[in-house]
Amino acid sequence: MTQPNSRETAARSSGSRVIPVEVFDLVIFGGTGDLALRKILPALYRRFIAGQIPAGTRLIGAARTDHDATEYRTLVAQALTEHAPDAGTETTRAAFLAMLDYVMVDALGDTGWAELAARMTPGRVQAFYFSVAPSLFGALAMRLHQHGMADAGARIVVEKPFGRDQQTAEALNRDLAQHFREGQIYRIDHYLGKETVQNLMAIRFGNMLFEPLWNAQYVDHIQITVAETVGVAGRGDYYDRSGAMRDMVQNHLMQLLCLIAMEPPARFEPNAVRDEKLKVIRALDPVAPGDIVRGQYLADGEAPGYGDDVGNPASLTESFVALKVLVSNWRWAGTPFYLRTGKRLRARTSEIAVVFKETPHSIFGAEAGQHRNILTIRLQPNEGIDLGVTIKAPGPGGMRLVDVPLDMTFSEALGPAAGAAADAYERLIMDVIRGNQTLFMRGDEVVAAWAWTDPMIASWEGVAPLPYDAGSAGPDEALALMHRDGRRWREIRL
Ligand code: NAP
Repeated sequence: MTQPNSRETAARSSGSRVIPVEVFDLVIFGGTGDLALRKILPALYRRFIAGQIPAGTRLIGAARTDHDATEYRTLVAQALTEHAPDAGTETTRAAFLAMLDYVMVDALGDTGWAELAARMTPGRVQAFYFSVAPSLFGALAMRLHQHGMADAGARIVVEKPFGRDQQTAEALNRDLAQHFREGQIYRIDHYLGKETVQNLMAIRFGNMLFEPLWNAQYVDHIQITVAETVGVAGRGDYYDRSGAMRDMVQNHLMQLLCLIAMEPPARFEPNAVRDEKLKVIRALDPVAPGDIVRGQYLADGEAPGYGDDVGNPASLTESFVALKVLVSNWRWAGTPFYLRTGKRLRARTSEIAVVFKETPHSIFGAEAGQHRNILTIRLQPNEGIDLGVTIKAPGPGGMRLVDVPLDMTFSEALGPAAGAAADAYERLIMDVIRGNQTLFMRGDEVVAAWAWTDPMIASWEGVAPLPYDAGSAGPDEALALMHRDGRRWREIRL
């Protein structure tokens, strides 16, 4: 890992300290695609403006379309106008575009490989971002190796989805492992790059306050909600072959669950963290069919329902799923984790709520009501954390209790530095260059997550999901999943 050194200029951006990375070469396979133009290149541009990417760095787009470097720069310039409209100045933009190059490469043929190899600069960090369909990952790894670009220092970045079940994920791991060591493979789950997700670890392991209570003795249950208002139009083809379980639960919600449930690693170091996450996945009980609710959104006025959105009215794919998950280990036995995620819900909101148990006895009598602390970690919108505490209702009306939030909205507490919190891709790409895998999934983690989800997916083969209204909180049966345990979901609202 690169340590701060004399090159450290401690550039200041939005009040936060930025340590430049070493000069590097990054090849973006699929450099003309949606992800590259919408996320990866704007993220690199923002890091460049922040002073983190040194001059001399080379960003090389690679795809089959015939572009020269000038045409590619024009394409990227348009993308920056659209996806990073307020970032930088004309000067920073020109300097960034000057770093760009393009090579016409076919992952499945010989075109361009020798030329690409010739453009790489020996002796620097070399990273290869696979922003292409997963079916091309194996071919890219093989060609990189064949053309001498898979030496020990090279890194590859692979996007989701990483397989569609355990078998395909294992096959993909094997394909990559033929040419790259695990320490060179960066499997992206962009949820891990979110500021609040990392703050989850800071809060748990940087404070004395929470960790002693972070177990089944004090925590009643945990809720993880990732709700979206958009439907699947535009990516219906892909989504209909995946569904909410594959698209969201196996990766993003699973990662959040792991970070909440894991034991403290000995150090904040890649394998120490990933070992602990893997233990959580392996401790998950199989989920009983009665603890799963699947849904599909209905049409809403002009807006089509799920079946029409994906062009498959008979589709049995879920756009919503809610689960009750049990973690069979010493810390969590008896404390359920309720997970839900869906499309076309009431609001776009992602949060984790740690709901503590009620006090064992109320000294204030029954009329004071029952109260409990809830620690809420908001991923979006308004990234932040609040802790619900019980206090006396103000005024002379006797000892009445009321729950109030101790709110720590990062943008308010930390000022503009937090408001301008780096996009997950910015942080993750810089971590690749620094050689830090802590926020990337290891091959065995991904496989274990599929091993847990596969039987559920197999169990609902041929079963239609329940319909739910667009703009709702999902099917009523999802509410019942908690009601029957004497609990309730937090409201989905902005
Ligand atoms: P996309 O818009 O279809 O872009 C695919 C890219 O791959 C294009 O640049 C295409 O350019 C290139 N390509 C296709 N076949 C190739 C070949 N044989 N050799 C070299 N390049 C080839 O896809 P995307 O949405 O950017 O997604 C890329 C990856 O990211 C996928 O794995 C996807 O699952 C993942 N992902 C995307 C998003 C997103 O928001 N878009 C989010 C999460 C994950 P040419 O046609 O010119 O070759």
